[in-house]
Amino acid sequence: MKFNLQMFAVPFRRVSKTAKRQRRTHLKKDAPTVTTCKQCGAPIAPHRACTKCGYYKGKEVIKTKEEN
Ligand SMILES: [Zn+2]
Repeated sequence: MKFNLQMFAVPFRRVSKTAKRQRRTHLKKDAPTVTTCKQCGAPIAPHRACTKCGYYKGKEVIKTKEEN
Protein backbone atom coordinates (compact mmCIF):
# COMPACT_ATOMS: atom_id res chain seq x y z
CA MET A 1 0.00 0.00 0.00
CA LYS A 2 1.24 3.41 -0.97
CA PHE A 3 1.47 5.83 1.95
CA ASN A 4 0.79 9.27 0.52
CA LEU A 5 -1.26 10.92 3.29
CA GLN A 6 -0.59 14.62 3.39
CA MET A 7 -0.72 15.49 7.08
CA PHE A 8 0.18 19.17 6.77
CA ALA A 9 0.56 21.89 4.16
CA VAL A 10 3.19 21.04 1.56
CA PRO A 11 4.63 23.73 -0.74
CA PHE A 12 3.33 23.10 -4.25
CA ARG A 13 6.84 22.77 -5.72
CA ARG A 14 7.44 19.86 -3.33
CA VAL A 15 4.59 17.91 -4.86
CA SER A 16 5.42 16.58 -8.31
CA LYS A 17 3.05 17.09 -11.23
CA THR A 18 2.50 13.35 -11.34
CA ALA A 19 1.67 13.08 -7.62
CA LYS A 20 -0.70 16.02 -7.92
CA ARG A 21 -2.41 14.57 -10.99
CA GLN A 22 -2.67 11.11 -9.44
CA ARG A 23 -4.29 12.59 -6.34
CA ARG A 24 -6.76 14.56 -8.44
CA THR A 25 -7.90 11.60 -10.52
CA HIS A 26 -10.58 11.07 -7.87
CA LEU A 27 -11.80 14.67 -8.07
CA LYS A 28 -14.44 14.43 -10.73
CA LYS A 29 -17.58 16.32 -11.40
CA ASP A 30 -20.39 13.87 -11.91
CA ALA A 31 -23.23 14.36 -14.34
CA PRO A 32 -26.43 15.86 -12.87
CA THR A 33 -29.22 13.40 -12.11
CA VAL A 34 -32.04 13.73 -14.60
CA THR A 35 -35.45 12.10 -14.33
CA THR A 36 -38.42 12.32 -16.66
CA CYS A 37 -41.68 14.07 -15.95
CA LYS A 38 -44.55 11.61 -15.49
CA GLN A 39 -46.98 14.14 -16.93
CA CYS A 40 -45.25 15.20 -20.14
CA GLY A 41 -42.07 13.11 -20.30
CA ALA A 42 -39.69 16.06 -20.34
CA PRO A 43 -36.28 15.66 -18.66
CA ILE A 44 -36.42 17.31 -15.21
CA ALA A 45 -34.39 17.55 -12.02
CA PRO A 46 -35.62 15.16 -9.31
CA HIS A 47 -37.82 16.52 -6.47
CA ARG A 48 -38.53 19.63 -8.51
CA ALA A 49 -41.69 20.69 -10.31
CA CYS A 50 -41.60 20.23 -14.07
CA THR A 51 -40.70 23.43 -15.87
CA LYS A 52 -42.56 22.39 -19.02
CA CYS A 53 -45.98 21.48 -17.65
CA GLY A 54 -45.75 22.73 -14.05
CA TYR A 55 -46.72 19.39 -12.50
CA TYR A 56 -45.29 17.80 -9.40
CA LYS A 57 -46.56 14.52 -7.87
CA GLY A 58 -49.51 14.46 -10.27
CA LYS A 59 -50.75 17.95 -9.42
CA GLU A 60 -50.29 21.23 -11.19
CA VAL A 61 -48.26 23.35 -8.78
CA ILE A 62 -47.06 26.18 -11.04
CA LYS A 63 -48.69 27.92 -13.98
CA THR A 64 -46.66 27.80 -17.16
CA LYS A 65 -46.88 30.23 -20.06
CA GLU A 66 -47.79 27.53 -22.57
CA GLU A 67 -51.12 26.77 -20.89
CA ASN A 68 -52.34 30.38 -20.60
ZN1 LIG B 1 -43.94 17.88 -17.27
